[in-house]
Amino acid sequence: MINISRLYCGLESSSDRFRYQSDSPPGPIIVYNCTNKCNQNCLHCYSKTGFISDNELDTARAKGLLKQLADNKCAVVLFSGGEPLKRDDLFELLDYSRQIGLQAVISTNGSLIDESVAKKLVGLGVSYAGISIDGTEETHDKFRGNKGCFVSTIDGIKFCKAAGLKVGLRFTITNHNYTQIRDIFSLAASLNIPRICFYHIISVGQAAKNNLKCSIDQTRRALNDILDCAKEYASRGITEVLTVGNHADGPFVLNRLKQENSPLYEKSLNLLQKFGGNKIGVKLFDIDPAGNAHPDQFWQNFSLGNATKQNIEDIFKNSINLFKDKISFAPDRCKKCHWFALCGSNMRFTGQNYQSANWILEPGCYLKDEEIFISGKSNEYACQDAKT
Ligand code: SF4
Repeated sequence: MINISRLYCGLESSSDRFRYQSDSPPGPIIVYNCTNKCNQNCLHCYSKTGFISDNELDTARAKGLLKQLADNKCAVVLFSGGEPLKRDDLFELLDYSRQIGLQAVISTNGSLIDESVAKKLVGLGVSYAGISIDGTEETHDKFRGNKGCFVSTIDGIKFCKAAGLKVGLRFTITNHNYTQIRDIFSLAASLNIPRICFYHIISVGQAAKNNLKCSIDQTRRALNDILDCAKEYASRGITEVLTVGNHADGPFVLNRLKQENSPLYEKSLNLLQKFGGNKIGVKLFDIDPAGNAHPDQFWQNFSLGNATKQNIEDIFKNSINLFKDKISFAPDRCKKCHWFALCGSNMRFTGQNYQSANWILEPGCYLKDEEIFISGKSNEYACQDAKT
């Protein structure tokens, strides 16, 4: 995640401890896709890849998984799906997480949250709900294949807020909605929501099938709008604007700060260097409904092992060994990039198995050659290993 509010506007937030502070928790962040069931049918769903087994862990095995995560000091578990509220035992799993000291947050489409559900989530210690909105009402309903779901999602947000649950909006940037960044800021301000996470579309699952990938120009337009709006709306209470899924956003912010002669440039550069870019398979893991671990939620076609058959500590260790040296997998363009040390390349996996692994630039990097100093200009911040 790139914290635009911190890097571009100088605003600190509590979640920065996972990124830019030395007291960051020791264990990884886990996305737990606890079910594939869903009440919606989104055009951009990464879960419906066809690679995930339907063998969803039952309550006892899911608790066993959570216990292993707690024993390995995992910082946060994000219950995701599918739609996590379609899992009958979700409240039991959240209750168990609280008992064993796991901090639980939830990623949901919000449409199944009424007053009683919102109160239950708060009572079970859920500290945050990320709720997906795909744009204006018309766009959202079209994307979700469900007329009226925008209204039910907004109702769900209001119930969460009334119950005292922190809410953030989640917006996936696609070639259909990249012009609606301002609409999302406006919506967040009207609902008094301080946090928005913008997800770059990644061409897996339904998103690949439906060809939702943004062009380079579309991505740049979206990022420029996000930066403009982050600054404009900070005074209206939107103080935590993040992007997810593309660490080229860090250099993009630095380039804007440089152009604007911003005094934040040096500080933001230091923060990005401290964080060190892409953390998939090292500080971030995904676990699918059947207990298979993945480097992140978009790598559903690559399993690191199954947490019900192997010790999760071993799975994490093996993955960290595999991914700690990302330069060895990086495409040539990334190897020559000035910013590799603070980006780590946008590793996307298109192979069906490790032997055919293919980490690709596309659709990740949208920076121009002159912005990554690919011409080979010497640079004190360039990754030494990248100077080939
Ligand atoms: S070229 Fe690679 S390392 Fe450089 S900013 Fe783009 S994705 Fe990151």
